[in-house]
Amino acid sequence: MRVPPEKILTLLQEPHKIRNIAIISHVDHGKTTLSDHLLEHGNLIASNLAGISRSLDFLLEEQERGITIEVSVVSFPVYFQDNELYLFNLVDTPGHVDFSGKVSEALRMVDGGVILVDAVEGIMAQTETVLIQAIEEKIPVILVINKIDRLITELQYNDEKIQEQLTHIIEEVNYILESYKSPQKLSFSNRTVLFGSALQGWFLGIDEVLQHHATMKWIREKIEKNELIELKRIGNAGSILTKYIVQNLPSPIQGLQAKIPSLLHVPPKNHESKKALQQTVQILKACSSDAPLYSAVGKIQLLRNTTFFTLRILTGSLKPFDKLVNLRTHEVVRIEQLSLYKGNKIQSLKRAYCGNIVGVVTNADVAPGDTLVAQVIQDVLPLKPISYVQNPVIWRSFEPKNLKDLAKISHIAQDIAKRTPNLEFETDQETGEFKLYGIGNLQLDLAIHEIEKKGIPVYASSPMVRKFEIPEDIVTFEHSHVIGISISGIIGNRDRFYQNNTFDVKEEYTLLRLLEDRGNEIWIHKSIQVSLECTDGILDGTSVSLNYGPLAREKVRNCVILIQKIHSQKKMAYETCLVGTRAFVHAGLKKANIALYEPLFQLLVRVPQRYLGEALGVLEKAGATISEIKETKRFSRIEATIPVSSSFTLAQDLRSISEGRAFLITK
Ligand code: GDP
Repeated sequence: MRVPPEKILTLLQEPHKIRNIAIISHVDHGKTTLSDHLLEHGNLIASNLAGISRSLDFLLEEQERGITIEVSVVSFPVYFQDNELYLFNLVDTPGHVDFSGKVSEALRMVDGGVILVDAVEGIMAQTETVLIQAIEEKIPVILVINKIDRLITELQYNDEKIQEQLTHIIEEVNYILESYKSPQKLSFSNRTVLFGSALQGWFLGIDEVLQHHATMKWIREKIEKNELIELKRIGNAGSILTKYIVQNLPSPIQGLQAKIPSLLHVPPKNHESKKALQQTVQILKACSSDAPLYSAVGKIQLLRNTTFFTLRILTGSLKPFDKLVNLRTHEVVRIEQLSLYKGNKIQSLKRAYCGNIVGVVTNADVAPGDTLVAQVIQDVLPLKPISYVQNPVIWRSFEPKNLKDLAKISHIAQDIAKRTPNLEFETDQETGEFKLYGIGNLQLDLAIHEIEKKGIPVYASSPMVRKFEIPEDIVTFEHSHVIGISISGIIGNRDRFYQNNTFDVKEEYTLLRLLEDRGNEIWIHKSIQVSLECTDGILDGTSVSLNYGPLAREKVRNCVILIQKIHSQKKMAYETCLVGTRAFVHAGLKKANIALYEPLFQLLVRVPQRYLGEALGVLEKAGATISEIKETKRFSRIEATIPVSSSFTLAQDLRSISEGRAFLITK
């Protein structure tokens, strides 16, 4: 049924008629097939939205130049029970574990999740990690058990065994929900579980089973005889999925209310930050298109000088040419274009409302996880940074085979890194080498492949492990440099410093820089008068010495630097301050017994029980420390820690001892 354009325009303004959802599943469990049923049941928004559309000139131009706009959301209207219209925004989540950062980003956009599981394979480690992330983001889920036909045609299970397998999968999901303190418990009776076959086009929940007296025997016989018409009539995949999503997953209004506590940082208890927290909660609670805008940035893509990104409007509304504030950079972000994603097409919008997920074009700096708010909102807190599962610990250096591509390659790598969580691009300040840092070799392989796809042949090194340097002690000392500057202060291990120190740092010092991700802090004594030029020198000096540690030129972590006194024979110019601070920090770190550390991966391995012995053998050989082994009915679940350098072939080794049945994820 074609949906009239004016109805869609109305829908965009009715948040209780919107469902923002993500389908969470392991590769090959049937996400694409299932999504197709939903899209087919829905009507991808008519291409001619009279009155609200005009072509996106800028994006069209990009497409003509052969630059693909990567669409991560599909918006489409669906009929619920034949007459009520809803708008679904289906947010794509990547299937591979190396990209778990992208999953977090996608989960930030949605209010509900569909956990899709292959009935034969059961819960995979990957599904478990993403489910845990969903629980942490306070996103309720429904469970869809797919590929029931395989239990019957391939495994030839009898009715009892089919039932047992379904119960087993539900129990496993509930076990994870309970372990991570989710209030949800899934069951057929509370209408949060469906089973069926996406390939055959049917799914059933408790309502359909009861209403049509569909016993397991009846279902099995229909599948054995390949008589699917009746099954598809009572359980048409598209309409059943739509019904359970509409009825059992929250609207953006309900979803936001549940998520507010997990979206915001609880700041230290001073009066201003408490007030800012209260104010932010109040703004979010309003959850209406009339409220001032507060929104979250999802996936981004850099297109030459412009950025195209996905935006979830948590509250308020916006239109092209609105000016917003980015709470990370405190800079103004002007909205150049606004659009709705409809499959592989993008439709321009004149206004976007509370509860929607839209595409935005801007020339300003935005990154995934940023918070954009209306200029009228003052003193509010940004959203908690998206917690990516890991830090990049593996790197590869690369260069173009043709030198003429040097500038181009750097721009492309920068773009890929900016829109890929857990991927960093860096040009080594001393050697000029290009480096990509990631959390897995597959991720780096894909990034390099993407560069090559743009027509730039690349030489790339093999993967290396990123080590880091940490000072063990804390020391007070003075360092005099031959160029005539002498600096004294405290430097060393940050945790130790805060455990032992006897004075209030904030009273006596001013914070010059805080590098939260690496745990580094730089302070300067309030009695020191320095020019702006000298401050820049100090900051650049510390930044070079903390980026290239004194032991192995690796990044320094968990370090505190307090500059107590600076004495210079000459004018304190930028260069003098930079050189002096760099030498002070390097010498200080050595005195504070800096040591080299290799990062560890925390692993979760899931193997069928019969392979437990072999799996433990493989892990032991790789130098893993096992912290926990748990057994469910058929699977063993091993938690372990392993040095990153011995992890490169681990997944392959585990698969080869278990006929491909062992799965490994890094946490
Ligand atoms: P994705 O990787 O999760 O997107 O999975 P796909 O939808 O691409 O499906 C992977 C494979 O499983 C394809 O060959 C599908 O035809 C098949 N498949 C999907 N759903 C079913 C199902 O219900 N039963 C069976 N037997 N195969 C299915």
